[in-house]
Amino acid sequence: MFSQGLVTVSYIAATMLFILSLGGLSNPETARKGNFFGILGMAIAILATIAGPTVTNYAPIILAMLVGGSIGIYAARKVKMTEMPELVALMHSLVGLAAVLVGYATYLDPAANLTGVEKTIHEVEIYLGVLIGAVTFSGSVIAFGKLSGKITGKPVTLPGRHLFNLGLLIGSILIGGWFLGFENHGGLLPLALMTVIALVFGVHMVMAIGGADMPVVVSMLNSYSGWAAAATGFMLSNDLLIVTGALVGSSGAILSYIMCRAMNRHFLSVIAGGFGTGGGTSPAAGAAPEGEVTPISSEETAELLREASSVVIVPGYGMAVAQAQHTVQEITKLLRERGVNVRFAIHPVAGRMPGHMNVLLAEARVPYDIVLEMDEINEDFPATDVVMVIGANDIVNPAAQEDPNSPIAGMPVLEVWKAKTSIVMKRSMASGYAGVDNPLFYKENNRMLFGDAKKMLDEVLKGLQA
Ligand code: NDP
Repeated sequence: MFSQGLVTVSYIAATMLFILSLGGLSNPETARKGNFFGILGMAIAILATIAGPTVTNYAPIILAMLVGGSIGIYAARKVKMTEMPELVALMHSLVGLAAVLVGYATYLDPAANLTGVEKTIHEVEIYLGVLIGAVTFSGSVIAFGKLSGKITGKPVTLPGRHLFNLGLLIGSILIGGWFLGFENHGGLLPLALMTVIALVFGVHMVMAIGGADMPVVVSMLNSYSGWAAAATGFMLSNDLLIVTGALVGSSGAILSYIMCRAMNRHFLSVIAGGFGTGGGTSPAAGAAPEGEVTPISSEETAELLREASSVVIVPGYGMAVAQAQHTVQEITKLLRERGVNVRFAIHPVAGRMPGHMNVLLAEARVPYDIVLEMDEINEDFPATDVVMVIGANDIVNPAAQEDPNSPIAGMPVLEVWKAKTSIVMKRSMASGYAGVDNPLFYKENNRMLFGDAKKMLDEVLKGLQA
């Protein structure tokens, strides 16, 4: 239906829309528009590819799209906001799996009869595509397990793991040489061997990463899935897939860098996979906090808020679990109407995925101009009357600064204990994702409001309205 020229023009349009989409998604105010550009770009890309000259048999494609589309719609409707990170990890694994399958199919394609340099280049593309795809696939499956709590969040490390990784790397390079020596699609054995090695590497790499380092893994696998897609583009000689994969790969790499900075980890050691154990010996390490915990009631909390002139709200994963964002917005609105300066402090790794808190607050229509990044607000805590920590834990843990043996030592945190009073809302004394005790709970100026965040905030709101 479409000539090759029209396909190329459509691909260029789709590429531009993807770039506009990324630009839009970088700011909450333009994110909706960015999302729309992305959807439009993808629709054009799919249409142009199907209508292009390379596709001759439509029935299987339409059938596959119906099945895949139905699963996608079902998942998007059913998955709760708190399960989004797991879903994203699963999606990454599918990109990896697709790259592996396309790699094998391309290698076995009887129509491809390249020789000389062309054959070598094509087979290197296949080899790398399968390698990146397999690492992405198994790594993302393990990340899914860790994020959903099906696999322990603690780092699981083998003795001599760096040597083991090095062995896997050297093994894949040697097998790659062996693979290239075969003629007439005869290199299936080395290809399969390398696939197994890559799968083992993906599992080993992500298993070894624990607790607080998971955000880096999530963004890194995001990046890997982009490179896997780009590799698939090379194998299929599809320019759009190459460009789109590179966009995802590089934006994921930038996100990984931002996450590394947020966790105070080195980017290069992350790429090498040597991270997650550097901040301490084990999540159980670090001194147990001392002192007394002072509970507070929701009425007393409302009283404190009523008297405050400056309030900072620190949302964390628990706010997402409790779905408390709408009550948070109502409290914010009420306080602001009474002239209280209310602002939000967002830690880069709060929640379970990059931008998690921003999405929730945007959904509840909290004005963007009072939602501040950690660096923008950390100096303001000493001049703050009340800090409300809603279902956050690791991101407000002073041990990161005070205890060099803590597994999260060196991680920048929101310094809420410097405010006049901090109130932590959570259900128990349980630790957060990193599995580390939090000395904040025992500080003299800290109060604990125990209970489900939504329920407690509803009570606080009632108290404020009374
Ligand atoms: P944490 O996991 O440190 O703490 C969340 C707290 O919320 C828990 O201690 C829990 O305490 C409380 N909570 C859970 N449910 C409720 C509820 N219904 N009502 C009230 N409280 C509740 O979350 P943070 O946001 O502080 O930190 C994020 C952590 O997740 C960091 O360690 C980060 O590295 C990691 N991570 C982040 C990712 C990202 O991309 N942002 C990805 C993967 C991991 P209790 O059980 O007592 O209620």
